[in-house]
Amino acid sequence: MNDEYTGHQPCNDNSNDGEISRRGFLTVGSAALATVAGTLAVDGAMAQGRPQTAGGQSDRSKSDPGPSNKPLDTENPDSEWPPDTDSESLVRTFKYPFSFANKRTYEGGWSREVTVCELSVSKAMAGVNMRLTAGGVRELHWHTADEWAIVLTGNARITAIDRDGRSFVADTKQYDLWYFPSGIPHSIQGLDPDGTEFMLVFDDGNFSETETVLLSDSMAHVPREVLSKNFGIAEPAWRNLPRNELFIFQTTVPGPLGADQKAAAGTLGKSTQDFAFRTMEMPPTVHTRGGEVRIVDSSIFKVSTNVAMAMVTVHPGGMRELHWHPNSDEWQYYIAGKGRMTVISTGNLARTMNFQAGDVGYVQQTLLHYIENTGDTDLVFLEMFKSSFYQDLSLSEWLAHTPPELVMAHLKIDRATYDAIPKEKMVVLPG
Ligand code: MN
Ligand code: MN
Repeated sequence: MNDEYTGHQPCNDNSNDGEISRRGFLTVGSAALATVAGTLAVDGAMAQGRPQTAGGQSDRSKSDPGPSNKPLDTENPDSEWPPDTDSESLVRTFKYPFSFANKRTYEGGWSREVTVCELSVSKAMAGVNMRLTAGGVRELHWHTADEWAIVLTGNARITAIDRDGRSFVADTKQYDLWYFPSGIPHSIQGLDPDGTEFMLVFDDGNFSETETVLLSDSMAHVPREVLSKNFGIAEPAWRNLPRNELFIFQTTVPGPLGADQKAAAGTLGKSTQDFAFRTMEMPPTVHTRGGEVRIVDSSIFKVSTNVAMAMVTVHPGGMRELHWHPNSDEWQYYIAGKGRMTVISTGNLARTMNFQAGDVGYVQQTLLHYIENTGDTDLVFLEMFKSSFYQDLSLSEWLAHTPPELVMAHLKIDRATYDAIPKEKMVVLPG
């Protein structure tokens, strides 16, 4: 556990137990009152579900008379009033909406990122959300982190060279992936009719899109006579080189894919590596009445050696069951719908947060969690792992494959309840 997530020790002192007892007392108190004082008039507060004190006055604990941001409160009901099962000790946020991110706009598109600077718990991975118009280019560049990507809308042409210098050029569509390992130079360009928007995930929480080696920037900082010597081309040819980085810029939509592939391959020939993966061309890895999961890791997407994906769909009322991941932190991106997640940490710490399309979520390695669809449409989200392989363990599966008497003694449950626990992982449960 790290300090950012669990909170500083002074926030987690021993007052914790006493506070839980107090909240327990209030709950029992109001229930007892309703039972014993059957003849008492039930006032408006009781009818609205607010707890009462023994004095008959409504408990004002769950009121918020000061200023508040009502739209955000409405979007985050489990932050406004946490469920009783959440701990009262501080648990730092594991959510960051891309809506809050600093959007850098250019002619040709925009870019915004959520790194460990925005979301302190997200040490293992960072995300960059980018839009390119038709013809808009994320300029030729490379970087230290590995880059995994998923196309969210539209179409993009991607280019790279492999470690043998052979070219790769491909067109990608919605939910296609690409993967560019550390140091592999690449570019992305929006295609007709309306360019593309995509999500990049980097295998380093500190990674920032501003820390990439750019073609324009690099050329601008090489003395012109050195450029001439390097390429064997006289200086006047370089007189229009950009003096500042381009990063994203607008140009014309490229021609047919085949022509670009042929021109880039030259006499070396095309790369034998496929840096792209067509997610929707494979059947779901898991399909249940509650939804489906597509798992793509290096076992099927060979080049993706340090990032693994599970793309999860949960139908209304359904739930991604209680589980954990032994091998990696989990970086989440919510594509559609609404959900909530509780992350149960060590040391009596737990917090529940609400998510919707455009949000980033994060779960540290091995921590127990579930994701419940709380909306009336499909919940679609990405579970991303800094690993060559996908791995999870289900709480049900664990309990069902532990000696029954041992589990019953822990949980104070009877044999019939134990026997009803699912015997294998369901992954996505129906509503
Ligand atoms: Mn890149
Ligand atoms: Mn998970």
